[in-house]
Amino acid sequence: MSKHQFQTEVSQLLDLMIHSLYSNKEIFLRELISNSSDALDKLNYLTLTDENYKSLSYTPRIDITINKELKTLTISDSGIGMNEADLIDNLGTIAKSGTKSFLQNLSGDKKKDSSLIGQFGVGFYAAFMVANKIEVTSRKALEEKAYMWSSEAGGEYDITETTKETHGTSITLYLKEDEEEFLEFYRIQSVIKKYSNHIPFAIFMDKEEKNYDEESKESKSEIKNVQINKASALWTLSKSQIKADEYQDFYKQISHDSEDPLLWSHTKAEGKYEYTTLFYIPSTPPMDLFRMDYKPGVKLYVKRVFITDDEKELLPTYLRFVKGIIDAEDLPLNVSREILQQNKILESIKKASVKKILSELKSLKEKENDKYLEFYKNFGRVIKEGLYNDYENKEAILELALFKSSKKEGLVSLKEYKEGMGEDQKSIYYITGENERILRNSPLIEQFKAKNIEVLLLDEEVDAIVFPMVGEYDKTPIKPVNNSDIDEEIKEDKTKTEEDEKTYGEILVKMKEILKDDAKDVKISSRLSDSPSCLVYDKNDPDFQMQQMLKQMGQDNLPVIKPILEINPEHEIFKKLLAKSDLLELHDIAYLLLDQAKLQEGMKIEDISAFAKRLNRFIAKAL
Ligand code: ADP
Repeated sequence: MSKHQFQTEVSQLLDLMIHSLYSNKEIFLRELISNSSDALDKLNYLTLTDENYKSLSYTPRIDITINKELKTLTISDSGIGMNEADLIDNLGTIAKSGTKSFLQNLSGDKKKDSSLIGQFGVGFYAAFMVANKIEVTSRKALEEKAYMWSSEAGGEYDITETTKETHGTSITLYLKEDEEEFLEFYRIQSVIKKYSNHIPFAIFMDKEEKNYDEESKESKSEIKNVQINKASALWTLSKSQIKADEYQDFYKQISHDSEDPLLWSHTKAEGKYEYTTLFYIPSTPPMDLFRMDYKPGVKLYVKRVFITDDEKELLPTYLRFVKGIIDAEDLPLNVSREILQQNKILESIKKASVKKILSELKSLKEKENDKYLEFYKNFGRVIKEGLYNDYENKEAILELALFKSSKKEGLVSLKEYKEGMGEDQKSIYYITGENERILRNSPLIEQFKAKNIEVLLLDEEVDAIVFPMVGEYDKTPIKPVNNSDIDEEIKEDKTKTEEDEKTYGEILVKMKEILKDDAKDVKISSRLSDSPSCLVYDKNDPDFQMQQMLKQMGQDNLPVIKPILEINPEHEIFKKLLAKSDLLELHDIAYLLLDQAKLQEGMKIEDISAFAKRLNRFIAKAL
């Protein structure tokens, strides 16, 4: 026998399981059955694709046995099994990124943390919620030796060599005092029906049946081994055969989510290629939604044989929150990953699936707006990523997008925006920035507000990257308000600007010279009403938000891109400047105007002490 220490994270997790206040303990059974089902999937796949396994004959099945005297519950499968190294790797350490992030998300508050267990599905270890000792006896297919892993949690586990007649795994739970409900046939059966009814393998259990015997006039009890789940892959049934709660339970089984899904879409395609898809949109976002190493939610089957649940290319990344299955009829079973990624059939299934999911979301938006808003709150940011990399579905994604608006509270769609456009308005306008408050008060939208033109307020990081690429919606150009061109579009009186340029000619030339290291140009603005100045960017230059994003994405050697300073000729400051005979203080004024415009856009001032000195000189003067 050899003793081993659990990895620190496992100990942490076990500690949480043992002291868990979690009310939904029954999910441990779902986790164990799902592991057995995966082990059977793996072996099935090998027997179909690997010469070495072809001669292996076995019946894929799962058995549950109860021992009321010993108070044990045993789950056995005829799956791939584990050897000594597998036991150490799989049941002594945590490999899954999801579990690691689960642990990182722990708050220390037992109640809160316990509710995360359900969301995460922390697998095998969940069994320690109901058991104080667990024994795993396993023999790997095509290997002779068998091993028993056993642990009472508490930091360590043992591994002993043992014997086992057939390959597969058998897990025995020594139930805690209060968990005797899991020694009852009906209790187990109901949990299995709830979570594991539609795994593709049969689950058997002994059932005691009392029969009245006519001859002896006595009732006799008889033990029968019965199948307790349907074992028919749910997606293979026709829609009319499946009840809503069956769809929901199946979702919980494949996603480990404890909440019902927001919606699902079940499609059987019989055109050029034959395949079935069943997709779910969760109602709450998974924890790893914004992690690079997120777990993909779609499982691939070929003719009902499980192929992989680790293929991120089955759907585009902006739909990474979708859970479900794709079952293709026309793919070979031994598809390798390289083949998968450039497979024409899969590509065509993917295309159709994206269209289907987007159209389901569109109809949710039209029919159940409240539900849609809930969805958008959780996944809107992710969906918008599609504008960046799914050109083909750009219009469909734009239909789904919602925005904050300068005109009203709440969110508006582009369609609503267009309906509210005035006759002469040429474009859809937006402003990007760090937060809604800065955007609402930005000098850049003063004239838009004065002219009652709506501006979309885009305050999410992804917006700054994505929107400059969008170009147009429904044939109307989409433009940022800090584009130097926009001035032309909303200006009413062109001759006024020309006059102002003449009047302020000398001041403009001097300011340009003073600011030459920090501003590309200094111009008369017609977009300001209250503020003295604002910053805009040349048509082809990335704006401040975009520059920030590019830096974050690792582009360190960006050239310095200078903004253009626009000034408000109607502002008191400039009227007074005109009246002055000398322009001695212009240097300070130019920089104060530039720096305050930066602050209003949420940017930083490089030389903050110079800024303070200038400001103080003016305060002292004014006193
Ligand atoms: P998950 O199943 O989500 O990967 P678990 O903690 O439940 O996480 O299981 C860890 C690993 O242990 C599995 O990935 C699998 O490799 C192995 N395992 C667990 N149960 C079985 C089983 N019944 N048969 C074979 N391998 C198993």
